Amino acid sequence: MDALIQQTAETLVGARSVVALTGAGISIESGIPPFRGPGGLWEKMDPMAVAHIDAFRRDPEKVWTLLLHGMQALLTTARPNDGHLGLARLEQWGYLRSVITQNVDGLHQAAGSRAVIEFHGTFAWQRCMDCGHRCETARVDLTKIPPRCPCGGIYRPDCVFFGEMIPPQHLVRSQQLVDGCDVLLVVGTSATVQPAAMMPLLAKENGAQVIEINPEPTPLTGRISNYLIQGGSGAVLNDILAGVAKLRAPS
Ligand code: NAD
Ligand code: ZN
Repeated sequence: MDALIQQTAETLVGARSVVALTGAGISIESGIPPFRGPGGLWEKMDPMAVAHIDAFRRDPEKVWTLLLHGMQALLTTARPNDGHLGLARLEQWGYLRSVITQNVDGLHQAAGSRAVIEFHGTFAWQRCMDCGHRCETARVDLTKIPPRCPCGGIYRPDCVFFGEMIPPQHLVRSQQLVDGCDVLLVVGTSATVQPAAMMPLLAKENGAQVIEINPEPTPLTGRISNYLIQGGSGAVLNDILAGVAKLRAPS
């Protein structure tokens, strides 16, 4: 087994509290494109024109048409991959305290993870811009764009647009978890969107090990993370899981 994989399996088994920070990269193998990088949505559209709250307020129909409708269609068919399943298994085995995800796709929960903080909210729920009523996306009529609440107001996904605050309870809980962890697994994120990108720094300042899983180096690599396991999250987490399985049931 690869030395870094073995080292990571041993670290996880010996740790007191492990937390994972995940990003769009972990869901690429489920067919959901990331925002940045090759094949990313930002190659096709300008983030400020479609993902900023001001753009949504100015022209909700346009944002629903360009971004949200397609994203929503992808999310209804996407299934968790080995990356999500691996993290869920680590939690079940008692080696992972919580996942803090920047994703809005619900795939960690679909994989069986129970302790999940949806740092940027979720696409699984909609919220009315006028009366604040929340409704499960599955129950909203998306054949009419923009979709509307019974009060006539326009629905928006219950996620965090650029230009909006992170829900304070998610920020506080994430900081507590990261403050208290001795290992932070950073999986499939370029760690460039603040304030989520702060979490690895916070972990390091508190003496935790920061371990990255990503096919590409990120701004954390060589500066904040202890090391990078270079590869897709599904394959790497499968290997780590096999290593952990051997350590917990020695022959
Ligand atoms: P990002 O788009 O900035 O970066 C994606 C990262 O994934 C890159 O570092 C890339 O090298 C890596 N990657 C590529 N293939 C991978 C693989 N097979 N396994 C693991 N990693 C792989 O993503 P981000 O840092 O999460 O920031 C984008 C923001 O956009 C997030 O805040 C998120 O809310 C949102 N977003 C969410 C989804 C989703 O819910 N699935 C999809 C797109 C964007
Ligand atoms: Zn309403």
